[in-house]
Amino acid sequence: MWRSLRPIGRSEASGGYRRSAWTGADAECRLWFQAQAEARGLDYEVDRNGNQWAWLGDPSRGDAVVTGSHLDSVPDGGAFDGPLGVVSSFAALDELRARKVSFNRPLAITNFGDEEGARFGLACVGSRLTAGKLTREKAYELTDADGITLPRAMEAAGYDPAAIGPDPERLARIGAFVELHVEQGRALDLSGDPVGIASAIWPHGRWRFDFRGEANHAGTTRLVDRRDPMLTYAETVLAARREAELAGAVATFGKISVEPNGVNAIPSLVRGWLDSRAADQSTLDTVVTGIEKAAREYADRHGIDLDVVRESFTPVVEFEHALRDELGTILGGERAIPVLGTGAGHDAGILSESIPTAMLFVRNPTGISHSPAEFAAEDDCLTGVTALADVLEGLACR
Ligand SMILES: [Zn+2]
Repeated sequence: MWRSLRPIGRSEASGGYRRSAWTGADAECRLWFQAQAEARGLDYEVDRNGNQWAWLGDPSRGDAVVTGSHLDSVPDGGAFDGPLGVVSSFAALDELRARKVSFNRPLAITNFGDEEGARFGLACVGSRLTAGKLTREKAYELTDADGITLPRAMEAAGYDPAAIGPDPERLARIGAFVELHVEQGRALDLSGDPVGIASAIWPHGRWRFDFRGEANHAGTTRLVDRRDPMLTYAETVLAARREAELAGAVATFGKISVEPNGVNAIPSLVRGWLDSRAADQSTLDTVVTGIEKAAREYADRHGIDLDVVRESFTPVVEFEHALRDELGTILGGERAIPVLGTGAGHDAGILSESIPTAMLFVRNPTGISHSPAEFAAEDDCLTGVTALADVLEGLACR
């Protein structure tokens, strides 16, 4: 399966993957999924939001065990983020068939559309629509950098956008959803375990900091006469690092825009976007409050006006404890399997408010993700397949 997926959407120059939603590379990935489903005699279907499904057993029973992930990527993404979960799902089914188990619940494998949000700026569009967390109206407004809207892009890829929207009937088919994913951090590498279970997805948000000063000549304006918002911004970046370190959280200024953006001009405006995440809500509040307080002190000192706007926020996702404990029991041998939180969002997080959901992580020795350098060792991937097969057998065959 890796061999047939490997060339799809791969950039020769970077070695990274460019599988944005509803592009040619995405279409190839979808054909790959359909071929894998049909080769195994599974019932293949696409739902109203463009998510793909491969069924074993009767979906209408209402207690299906579903596994899967996504096949799209960020620009120049790695090979594993998403595809490892889909490939492992098919491989786990093969393993269960080799074990000659009998299923007493329906099983489905899924590929959720547009998980990364790389093209339209919103992550997990397929699962959000299905779970009713993104309205049809809002989805219709999503537009890519070339001005192409989501419905136009779906249409161009051969899908009918007229039907997109909440899909409670489909959700009602699912008794449990388990997503296997490459770890996007180094917790398993540090603990020395090939596979772990997710406890929660950290709460995270994005804040826009507008620092307003006064544009002026970079050559003739004395330093003492300047109202330079870049200085305040720079001090705020350092404060963000310090606050995050103190709290055991993360905080990143990864995007900035400057006006007038001239080499020889003191800026009038520096706009910086803060992304911050922490294990719990109160820690995140402490970090962001601390950063904002520091920024206001610096702004006062330099005569800078500061506005802070929270642009988005996703509260903590606690995966269902009963299902998580069940996975722990199924997978727990002589050594307890580690349970870890993550700072990255997933379809499993979106679905977890509607249905019992769990995640398995496979060790990533460098922790690097969303990069061509993303990696998981073959042995660890195979351990992940066995763990997923054990979980599916435990949930669907007993
Ligand atoms: Zn992913």
